[in-house]
Amino acid sequence: MKTLRLILGDQLNIKHSWFKQTNDNVLYCMFEMRQETDYAKHHIQKIIGFFAAMRQFHQDLKSQGHQLTYYKINDSKNTQNLTENLSQLIEKHSIEHFEYILPDEYRLDEQLKTFCDNFQISAKAITAEHFYTERDDLKTFFKGKKQYLMENFYRDMRKKHDILMVANQPEGGKWNYDKSNRNKWKGDVEIPNYKLFKNNVSEIVKDIENAKIETIGKFEIKTFSYPISRIQTLEQLKYFCKHLLIHFGDYQDAMHTDEEYLFHSRLSFAMNLKLISPKDIVKTVMNYYRKHGAHIEISQVEGFIRQIIGWREYMRGMYWAFMPEYKSLNALDNQNKLPEFFWTGNTKMNCLKHTITNSLDNSYAHHIQRLMITGNYALLTLTNPDAVDAWYLGIYIDAVEWVQLTNTRGMSQFADGGKIATKPYVSSGSYINKMSNYCSSCHYNKSKKTEEEACPFNSLYWNFLAEKREYLGNNFRMGMMYSLLDKMDQGQLQKLKKRAQHIIANQDEY
Ligand SMILES: Cc1cc2nc3c(=O)[nH]c(=O)nc-3n(C[C@H](O)[C@H](O)[C@H](O)COP(=O)(O)OP(=O)(O)OC[C@H]3O[C@@H](n4cnc5c(N)ncnc54)[C@H](O)[C@@H]3O)c2cc1C
Ligand code: SF4
Repeated sequence: MKTLRLILGDQLNIKHSWFKQTNDNVLYCMFEMRQETDYAKHHIQKIIGFFAAMRQFHQDLKSQGHQLTYYKINDSKNTQNLTENLSQLIEKHSIEHFEYILPDEYRLDEQLKTFCDNFQISAKAITAEHFYTERDDLKTFFKGKKQYLMENFYRDMRKKHDILMVANQPEGGKWNYDKSNRNKWKGDVEIPNYKLFKNNVSEIVKDIENAKIETIGKFEIKTFSYPISRIQTLEQLKYFCKHLLIHFGDYQDAMHTDEEYLFHSRLSFAMNLKLISPKDIVKTVMNYYRKHGAHIEISQVEGFIRQIIGWREYMRGMYWAFMPEYKSLNALDNQNKLPEFFWTGNTKMNCLKHTITNSLDNSYAHHIQRLMITGNYALLTLTNPDAVDAWYLGIYIDAVEWVQLTNTRGMSQFADGGKIATKPYVSSGSYINKMSNYCSSCHYNKSKKTEEEACPFNSLYWNFLAEKREYLGNNFRMGMMYSLLDKMDQGQLQKLKKRAQHIIANQDEY
């Protein structure tokens, strides 16, 4: 039976059972499409990266002897629409059966389901063979529970997969070393050179220009630095284990004006395209730790493992548990727009300037920059989560909706009313000063509150608490902050609110 198998741009798993053997009756297909380049305004490097990895994957499959049809973005046969391209191939090759790997995005899942429901030939969807968990595992795990605590899920994952466990107990005696992950980097510990690949993507850049795809961000170095194949991803992982793991946990939350990546792995893009599985990553990191454990503290390793088997799997489970409703949640009823400087980095607030510039230059910011700088600011300025989502989905190299949406709308914007985070991730300038060197060279003064030169985060923070009391006043984790607010001199509170409201109304002046 002649079969057509679809490979989406984030399904580049060469280890998938589909590819174990070649079969003359199976035709694979891959498409670069306007449907995907245009559903959000993406960073130029994100589109380059997807096309580069897809084209490489196409080459790899061909060299293994698989039959494959690949549509580049400007190919004349390319209808730029997934289901129209599929229909075209089904007819052209007299296909009798269609198979696809379950998409991780709700949008594509629905599109393919509808396509199969309305088509005459038989169809089958199979698993991506990538994640530890299946789509609905998390929903089942939390069935009947009021709270969806990541920590409970994470501990279960550790036990179930026997990771960092000794005799059914957490290795080292603690489940979580989060408190050891909060060091400020002061330049005293050397950061090795970053591992940056030099992938030649000039043809892809030309194709994107010819197609007139609208993008954001910059691409100035002209070679693509993230891994685009499994081989490169394994190199990146090896480099991480050898040079970065040793301090990963310590400086996980640190930020610095001169360092874009610190000890972060830069693996999210490759992982989200499935060039490598989380299991392969965990296995490699654990093997390295077992061999070199004398030099590496458990807190560094646990901090990393938690991100992969905890946060990443948890976010995916939450996405499938709550979509499609999740995408329109706005529990705090925030309605403002993002300021222009999110697309230029042109602001006097040094923390935002650095985070946004890093995002525009490299399509990257690490999780604390995303959470406590841009995310914190967007929430404190009462921004509509739709606008925040659109920015995050566009700007980051690793932004695929299942992981972007839950992190942005849930963890960062508290728009789900506390399903993911038990309290909003908001802070004044003092947290930012504690974790970075941004404040020391900022136009604003981190210690002042209402004066012209006062750090905007300081007034925005108290204004946020005052404005959102209706939604947050009963949150037990916010109790201390609300009691401080209640004790505040009313005159001072009015001044803070007035300054915050001025900032919100004139964001591009700050
Ligand atoms: C507001 C916000 C939006 C985010 N959007 C995305 C996104 O679109 N895509 C994305 O992959 N990650 C997202 N994250 C999570 C995290 O910021 C990135 O995974 C990380 O910065 C990628 O860089 P890295 O590979 O160097 O990560 P490292 O710090 O080296 O971490 C290792 C790996 O752990 C995983 N990981 C870490 N934190 C998370 C998390 N919170 N959720 C899921 N996986 C995690 C990633 O796969 C990452 O590669 C977001 C976080 C926040 C706060
Ligand atoms: S002083 Fe305020 S605005 Fe400036 S870097 Fe520090 S936190 Fe950011």
